[in-house]
Amino acid sequence: AKENGHNYFQFFVASVDQEIRERKQLEKDLSVALAQNQFHLVYQPQVNLATHRIIGAEALIRWEHPERGLIPPDHFIPVAEMNGRIVEIGQWVLDQACAQASLWASNGMPLRIAINLSAVQLRQESIVDDILDTLRRHNIPAGRLELEVTETSFMTNLEEAVDKLKRLHSAGISIAVDDFGTGYSSLTYLKRMPVQHLKIDKQFIRDLLVNEEDTRIANTIIDLGKSLNLTVVAEGVETAEQEYYLAQRGCQLAQGYFFSKPLKPSEFERFVESFHRS
Ligand code: C2E
Ligand code: CA
Ligand code: CA
Ligand code: CA
Repeated sequence: AKENGHNYFQFFVASVDQEIRERKQLEKDLSVALAQNQFHLVYQPQVNLATHRIIGAEALIRWEHPERGLIPPDHFIPVAEMNGRIVEIGQWVLDQACAQASLWASNGMPLRIAINLSAVQLRQESIVDDILDTLRRHNIPAGRLELEVTETSFMTNLEEAVDKLKRLHSAGISIAVDDFGTGYSSLTYLKRMPVQHLKIDKQFIRDLLVNEEDTRIANTIIDLGKSLNLTVVAEGVETAEQEYYLAQRGCQLAQGYFFSKPLKPSEFERFVESFHRS
């Protein structure tokens, strides 16, 4: 037993060591990824369930690592948030998405673009000016930008977050609470924050029609949206049955593989055209 314990301990130390090394390598690779153009954005359509029109798109970052291939954002965003690199990555995302929105608008496709704003970005002193400057530089009306923030963004410094989101909102930008219901939800946030949209997290949508608890949670969020006059967006919609249920239950917007996976800009344009033709 003692022998085993010893081996286990060595194994444990070795694997922690390995993890630290991998993490350091990832941080190193992240530090050159922007300069070497390894990021790109993909766009997932957001559909109005009542009119069946595409009203906008969520921009999602992709990292094409030169050796390791595609690294999912869930792997590198938390690392970039920890070491602060998310600030410049986030600014790149904003710039890139605004450039795309501007191009689409001039091609007769004036869609709203939703961007994920990290809590770390929101904590930056200059974030409000940075965002408004970016919109101005790309000649994008503020009403065409939506910022998706999670409930954690409200926690660290509530006053400051309220103040910044209010300034962004009064400029015309809309604010969505992302992953609603998964974090430290508090109805106080909804009361104090200038929020217009709630996004039902895909974990509640996946088994929407098989797990009664998920049905009730989704219903509750939809009803909450109604009574607070907020638009509800369901993410992770994968089947016609889920779409039908959400539509008749009064959820206004949806996105998910049922409509389309996130697409590169040229694919996205083609998708919008064929979706609106059908
Ligand atoms: P999120 O904001 O909750 O985004 C939804 C995720 O669900 C995306 O994963 C999307 O590709 C995926 N998804 C969409 N439809 C479906 C579906 O029908 N079924 C399933 N199973 N999944 C679906 P993705 O692109 O891997 O992004 C993961 C997370 O990484 C995002 O979660 C967001 O928190 C973060 N992220 C992505 N891009 C950015 C970014 O530019 N900035 C920041 N700060 N975070 C980002
Ligand atoms: Ca999101
Ligand atoms: Ca989510
Ligand atoms: Ca998320």
